[in-house]
Amino acid sequence: MTPATACIFCRIVAGEADASLVYRDELVTAFMDAHPVAQGHLLVVPNRHAAGLDELDDDSAGHMMVVGRRLAGALRRSGIPCDGINLLLADGTTAGQSVFHCHLHVLPRTRRDGFGFRRPLGAGLPAGRQALESAAQQIREVLDAGA
Ligand SMILES: [Zn+2]
Repeated sequence: MTPATACIFCRIVAGEADASLVYRDELVTAFMDAHPVAQGHLLVVPNRHAAGLDELDDDSAGHMMVVGRRLAGALRRSGIPCDGINLLLADGTTAGQSVFHCHLHVLPRTRRDGFGFRRPLGAGLPAGRQALESAAQQIREVLDAGA
């Protein structure tokens, strides 16, 4: 069994595993998260297997956001409780990714839904310009190298 056929999202895209589909085109498929954080929780996945952002092609990456935005608008008008939306993509185990076929969560939010991001102590304090410039330089060097 190849990794792609073992992948639950590839099996959904191929129509080989059950899912409640919401949208599909040549690049992406969207369906209800089977383990939702909230009613209406959707996933947008590239049709072509990519474990994470490094493997994802630019066209699919861009289109995932376009479709995610469109689905966010549909959720807001659907009658499903939705006071706000989080678009969330977890890349890597440390970031919370648990299925290694890249996916964008479209997560409807309601007041007091209990979902949230926990910030470590000290997060959000102003960073010094030198630290910001140093980090920016490190990233620019990688970009300049053609990444
Ligand atoms: Zn896959």
